[in-house]
Amino acid sequence: MELLDARLATLRRESDKEIRRLNLALEARARELEAALRELEFFTYTVAHDLRSPLRALGGFSELIRAEYGQVLDDTGQGYLSRISEAARRMDALVADLLAYSRAAREEIILEDVDVGWAIDEAVTQVSAGGETRGSIETDGARGVLRAHRPMLIQVVVNLLSNALKFVPPGVLPRVRVRSEERGPTLRLWVEDNGIGIHPDHHRKIFDVFQRLHRSEAYRGTGIGLAIVKRGVERMGGTLGLESAPGEGSRFWIEFPRGVTKAAV
Ligand code: ADP
Repeated sequence: MELLDARLATLRRESDKEIRRLNLALEARARELEAALRELEFFTYTVAHDLRSPLRALGGFSELIRAEYGQVLDDTGQGYLSRISEAARRMDALVADLLAYSRAAREEIILEDVDVGWAIDEAVTQVSAGGETRGSIETDGARGVLRAHRPMLIQVVVNLLSNALKFVPPGVLPRVRVRSEERGPTLRLWVEDNGIGIHPDHHRKIFDVFQRLHRSEAYRGTGIGLAIVKRGVERMGGTLGLESAPGEGSRFWIEFPRGVTKAAV
């Protein structure tokens, strides 16, 4: 009996040692992966950042040619010039969005109590300043305080609002409603639109980078907006989702723990 106990004890010691060894190896591997990921993010950021100045030059010089030599170009020449300007504009938008996506991964998250009404007003102001003035955004039903990182929450709401205003059928005026819903310890924010809607088969993939359901001739975009929303919400410890079907508009939601103070602005 004693012999058996001694052998069992030895076995346990050996397996404990093996578990410790495996844990250490796993931790080292996780650290390596984290470092590789950080390097990749830095690489994306640097490339995107450095691409911007040649792109600006391309766009700027195309405009100069149009202004100063436009009269000596025939229609075909003008057409080529327009295509260069449009390509430079599209690529600049893409690079700007990639930088925002990369920033959403790197930015330090500072969670604090944020007044929902205030954050939504900020987001609406930014969307209007960005030139999206068609349609209406109703925000009366959005109240409460939640825990979030202010700039990231605003960015997330801006992206949802821009999409809500953009994806309407031709000739339809966008009508967007933002409202909040208390759900026990959390607060859910809804962004609801009267747009084209999204088939449930696509509800998951639209949150991946570069996933678009339309050609850019129909609706402008880069396919990064919702990837930023997902990354931002998850980094702030929130959850998100949507309810939508083709022709029935879309209702996107984001949810965070409720704040404790009454109105932290
Ligand atoms: P972008 O708006 O630049 O195309 P996003 O990542 O923001 O990229 O969205 C991905 C895709 O999801 C869009 O191209 C569109 O097909 C679909 N989508 C997003 N928001 C809406 C919406 N409110 N209504 C209908 N479709 C939407």
